[in-house]
Amino acid sequence: MNLILCLIIFLSFFSNKVLAAVAYRGSHPIAWSGQEVPVCWENSPDGSNIYKEVTREAIEQSWEKYSTLKFIGWGNCNNNSRGIRIQIADDNPHTKGLGRELNGKKNGMLLNFTFQKWSQSCAYNKESCVASIGVHEFGHAVGFTHEHNRGDRDPMCKEEPQGPDGNAFLTPYDGESVMNYCNPEYNNDGQLSDADIAGIQLLYGIPCENWLPPKKNTIRLYKGQRVRAMIPFKKGLVTAFQQGGIYYSPDGADPAKACSNTQKVYNGKQKVLAMIPYKSGIITAFSGGAIYYSPDGKNLGGGGKSKKVYNGNQKVSAMIPWKEGVITAFSGGGIYFSPDGKNLGGNGKTKLIYRSNQNVLAMSPYKKGYVTAFSGGGIYFTSSGKYPAGGGDSIVLYNGRQTLQTMIPYKKGLITAFSEGGVYFSPNGKDIGGRGKTKNIYGGQQKATAISIFKSGIVSAFQGGGIYYSPNLDYVGGYNGGY
Ligand SMILES: [Zn+2]
Repeated sequence: MNLILCLIIFLSFFSNKVLAAVAYRGSHPIAWSGQEVPVCWENSPDGSNIYKEVTREAIEQSWEKYSTLKFIGWGNCNNNSRGIRIQIADDNPHTKGLGRELNGKKNGMLLNFTFQKWSQSCAYNKESCVASIGVHEFGHAVGFTHEHNRGDRDPMCKEEPQGPDGNAFLTPYDGESVMNYCNPEYNNDGQLSDADIAGIQLLYGIPCENWLPPKKNTIRLYKGQRVRAMIPFKKGLVTAFQQGGIYYSPDGADPAKACSNTQKVYNGKQKVLAMIPYKSGIITAFSGGAIYYSPDGKNLGGGGKSKKVYNGNQKVSAMIPWKEGVITAFSGGGIYFSPDGKNLGGNGKTKLIYRSNQNVLAMSPYKKGYVTAFSGGGIYFTSSGKYPAGGGDSIVLYNGRQTLQTMIPYKKGLITAFSEGGVYFSPNGKDIGGRGKTKNIYGGQQKATAISIFKSGIVSAFQGGGIYYSPNLDYVGGYNGGY
C-alpha cells in the first residue's frame, strides 16, 4: 500500500498556520465560523457517482457525526460556489490550504477515484481507499495538519513531516489519528480516533444526538459563563451558572441550553451558593437566603413540587447530604445537621453541631464521614460527623496557606481544588494540598469553580468559563492549558 496520503499545498503560504489540532471556532482564522459548510464537485468523470456517494457517506460517519459541523450541498460547482470545491483526478489527493482557507477556492481539494496512476494498490480496494482518503482530506478541510509533524511525536514515528506544523495541540500525540502517516492502519481505515473526535469537538462543539463521553481524551463541554455549582443528577449533570440559570443536561453533552434535551430547571436571577443531590431530587441554596428542596429536580427556586427548607437571612457556605439528612454550614459560622432534610438552619429536629469564627469554604462526604475546609486553611475529616473542626475523632488533612475552593470524593480518595489554582487528587485522602501520594492533576492558572463526577469521569468548571470532561485524572482542565 502506498503510504503517501496527500499533500497540503499552501497557496497562502504561512498566512495562517494551524494545527494538529487548532484553536477556537469563530476566533481562529482556520476554523470555519459557521456550522454549515457547503461542498461541491468541480467535475464528474465517468463512474464517479458511486465514489462521490462513498465519500459523502464517509464524511457523514466521521467529522459530521461527531461534531456540530454539517457538510451541505454536494452538487456540481458553479463559478460562484463557496465552501469546499472538490476536483476528481488520478493524482495525489491534497487540499490547497486548511479549514476555511478553502472557502470558495477552485479545485481546493483533489480526490482520486481511479488509482490507475497514483497509488495503484488502491485500484483493488477502491471503496476503502476512497472513504479513508476522503476522511483524511476532510481532516485538512476542517483545519487539521498532519499529526506526525508534531515535535512531541513517538520517537518510533519516522515519517517525514509534510505540510505546515499547526500552531496548537488540542490533544496528546495520537498514533491512531486519521491525520498520522505513522499510523500502521492506513488513514486509520477512515475511523476517527478518540483524539480525532476530541479535537473536532474542541473546534466545532459536541453534537446533541448520540453523544457519548470519550474513553481516553479530555473534551471541552462548554465555553461561556462561569459555573457556580455542578452536581451529578440521574444520568446527567445539573449546572448552575454565574448569571442565574440552572440547567439539567441528561447526557452531559451540553451543560447549557444548546441541546434540545437540556432543560432549564431554574430561571431566576439569584445566585446559587450550594447545590446537592438529596433523595430523589436536589436541594439548592440561593444568595437571597432561601433554600429549596425539589423532589423531581425541576423548579429549583420554588414552584411545582419544590418546598422551602430554610427561610432565614443567613447565607449558606457549604452543604452535604449526610445519613438520611443534610448538613448545612452558614456563613455566620454555624454548622447544622437536619436528620430529615427540613429546617436546615435550626428548629424542628435540627441540631447545631459546630459554631466557629471561621467560615466554612467547602464540605464533602468522604468514606463514612465528611471533610470540612475552613477559611483559616485547616481541613478536617470526622468519621463520626461530630467534630468538623478538630478534636474528638477529627483528623487534620491539611493545614497550609492555600484556601479550598471545592472538593469531591473520587474513587477512594479526594479531589481538591484550591483558590490559588491547583487541583489535586489524593488517593488516600491525606496530604490533599500536595506531597505524599497526592498528584497535581491541574497545574494551570485558572481556579476550578466546581467539580463533579459524571459517568465514570470528572467534569471540571474553571473560572474562565470552560467546562471539561476528563475520563480519568489526566488533563482535567483540558490538554495544553485547556482550549
Ligand atoms: Zn494530508
